[in-house]
Amino acid sequence: SLTIGIVGLPNVGKSTLFNALTKNDVLAANYPFATIEPNVGVVGLPDERLTALAEMFGSEKILPAPVSFVDIAGLVRGASKGQGRGNAFLANIRDASAICQVVRAFSDPNVLHVDGKVAPGDDIETINTELILADLQTVEKALPRLQKEAKLKKDKLPAVAAAEAAFKLLDEGTTLYAGAAAAGIDLELLAELHLLTIKPFIYVFNVDEAELGNEAFLNEMRALVAPAEAIFMDAKIESELIDLPDDEAMELLESTGQTEPGLNQLIRVGFKTLGLQTYLTAGPKESRAWTVPVGATAPEAAGVIHSDFQRGFIKAEIVSFDDLTAAGSMSAAKAAGKVRIEGKDYIMKDGDVVEFRFNV
Ligand code: GDP
Repeated sequence: SLTIGIVGLPNVGKSTLFNALTKNDVLAANYPFATIEPNVGVVGLPDERLTALAEMFGSEKILPAPVSFVDIAGLVRGASKGQGRGNAFLANIRDASAICQVVRAFSDPNVLHVDGKVAPGDDIETINTELILADLQTVEKALPRLQKEAKLKKDKLPAVAAAEAAFKLLDEGTTLYAGAAAAGIDLELLAELHLLTIKPFIYVFNVDEAELGNEAFLNEMRALVAPAEAIFMDAKIESELIDLPDDEAMELLESTGQTEPGLNQLIRVGFKTLGLQTYLTAGPKESRAWTVPVGATAPEAAGVIHSDFQRGFIKAEIVSFDDLTAAGSMSAAKAAGKVRIEGKDYIMKDGDVVEFRFNV
């Protein structure tokens, strides 16, 4: 599934962020283990191109691409050794395609920090360690079985070698996402183990409003997680923005030196991290973004709308969003020769405005 799992130590602002994301009114309480059940929220990928298309085509509705977030509770220090709710978080985190760690960088002395001090680097290390320990346990448990299988089936030997190499890497404290490529480990061979540290990471630093414009501070945080993406927001302000009318929200944003909500950045970065892009369709009924993996062909893209579209694919009429808006209308874009006819081998580009032709 294309879901981003939100993790973080207690009291870092996970619930606040998640509530702002989903506009759900889940309790954001000032004590550990407030979020016990996993919550899934589906949000729309912000895309101004849809607004422009809806205007051009007189669309009744705008349908952005959905992005799912799941609030993963219970990943605390010592979870792999049974602390908190122990390994209960594993089941939820396995289903996520990417992991978003919320890191506390705000200083509010009224909000208790589980370790007694605000130390973003330590918090990142703590979560990393728990995930690495969970993977170590998984690999350790699987190895004897894999070795036994390899005695009967020689084609299982590469999987054993990959598991052994993964164990070594994890044991050195490195995530598989960060280290597997350099260590020459083929992660495909370990897919059945559903390892956690294979997943790409995104970091959300929950910072004080006053720090949002402090580049020196932000760069310090960026350095902690590079090359992973770092996003900065004040979760409390994000949750206030949600409840304000647009003009007042814009005013509040500008007063913090931001041009768009941090949530929008998060959704966009999450989408990119999952290796996804969108193509667009537009008409009087709706302007809509459709999600495809980067590298999808035109028939695969058609299949996202309906499997019949893929099966009966003939061709696609495609114009890039930029060419379309430069021309001003579909007929003007056609007259200018900007609307291309593409066949079944065409590789979709982000922002293609598409009409499919197919047999039924
Ligand atoms: P969780 O345990 O990680 O889900 O954390 P919560 O979202 O429940 O937040 C814990 C407490 O910190 C709540 O009282 C929030 O109101 C507060 N909090 C969350 N984000 C911020 C922030 O950016 N600044 C400040 N000052 N407080 C925050």
